[in-house]
Amino acid sequence: MKSDIYKSGGRLIPLKYSLLGQRSVLEKSSKIKKIISSGILLDADLKVFLEELISINDNLKEQLCKFNEQAFFDKKTVGNVITKYVEKNKLDEGSSEIVKAIQKIKDDITHEDIVKKKQTIKEICQVSDKLMQKLADFNEDKGLDLDLFRDRIIYVCKRCQRIACEGRFQKKECDCGAKLVTTRDVSKISIYLLSEEVERFFKKDLWLEYGIDYLLKRANLSNVFCGYSFLGSSCVYHEVDNFAENFKENIRIVCECKNCKIVLNDAIVFKEKIKNLGASRAYLITTSEDIDSDVRLFCNASNIMIIDSVLGKQHEELLEIIKKV
Ligand SMILES: [Zn+2]
Repeated sequence: MKSDIYKSGGRLIPLKYSLLGQRSVLEKSSKIKKIISSGILLDADLKVFLEELISINDNLKEQLCKFNEQAFFDKKTVGNVITKYVEKNKLDEGSSEIVKAIQKIKDDITHEDIVKKKQTIKEICQVSDKLMQKLADFNEDKGLDLDLFRDRIIYVCKRCQRIACEGRFQKKECDCGAKLVTTRDVSKISIYLLSEEVERFFKKDLWLEYGIDYLLKRANLSNVFCGYSFLGSSCVYHEVDNFAENFKENIRIVCECKNCKIVLNDAIVFKEKIKNLGASRAYLITTSEDIDSDVRLFCNASNIMIIDSVLGKQHEELLEIIKKV
């Protein structure tokens, strides 16, 4: 773990800190940078929009997996059909008639399979278009220019509709026997999916932490960190969602963000962090509006301020709460 000690001021003692591994990769992504700098992260509409987008994206990924796995010949089906045919026509296995029948069944199934695969490709493209449209509508609505996707180029054998190659066209012999020599032998399909870093950013609820980070950076504070580990007085590193300091007042702020209801254990663990990091101000921030009374009592007694329904509040309102240090 690469760690460092930041410069502090006032009477605050600087802590040893380290950026959580995957965060540095994430923060370098131009897509993520753009989302953060748009200042949209604490907008309630974004959460609704993203939940919908992620559900469509998951569905798309599932369809792509199924398409890849779809067996060309369902041997069990072929076997069942042949058995039935043999029984029905009282045929001896090995007769020329049965050989012909098997061939016919295979041809029929091949044809059915190709039709089915073509239909699946069509559906996959439609879902991908839907994703694109949703983002374009959202961008227009909010006056933004967010880019959340990565493209996946697939080359499909024109004869059997199998996926022949991905990314770039490569000459090869398809499993169906077709020689794929030129790009005319394949159909090129472009699909748009949520980019992996964007997916992680939203699924792991990092958007909420960076939304708060965006606010803290505008609150005249120093040493504003998001997603760092700090070495506490108990000689253990503590993961902190948001960290900031106010040198003039000798105040150290830590925040814990939850995109769900806070349970008592969250508050208990957070209290330990506060103690070990010598924080003078602590915020437990949640998107939920429902706070149990035991959590409220514990936080009051532990000098932890709860900010509930964070997405329903204006930036100014949140800044006022934070500035009331
Ligand atoms: Zn093929």
